[in-house]
Amino acid sequence: MGIRSINVKLCTGCGICVDSCPQDVFRMSEETDKPFIAYQKDCESCLICELSCPEEAIFVYPVLERRIPNPLDC
Ligand code: SF4
Ligand code: SF4
Repeated sequence: MGIRSINVKLCTGCGICVDSCPQDVFRMSEETDKPFIAYQKDCESCLICELSCPEEAIFVYPVLERRIPNPLDC
């Protein structure tokens, strides 16, 4: 399931999560100067973003979803 949400009320826009995600899941919004989840399916539930966020604004579901393989994705 991976990353679920960013609490924009807690988020200060520091960008730590954007820089720390090994899967490049986040992008910064030019409108709000805060991150948003751009590529949720790429998340591997590593929890780095959740643990590195100083505001505890990120929630990651800690179990990677098992998806049924789609031959068209191969
Ligand atoms: S690390 Fe937390 S406070 Fe910083 S930009 Fe990401 S969600 Fe916002
Ligand atoms: S849990 Fe890991 S892979 Fe998923 S968004 Fe956070 S840092 Fe990126």
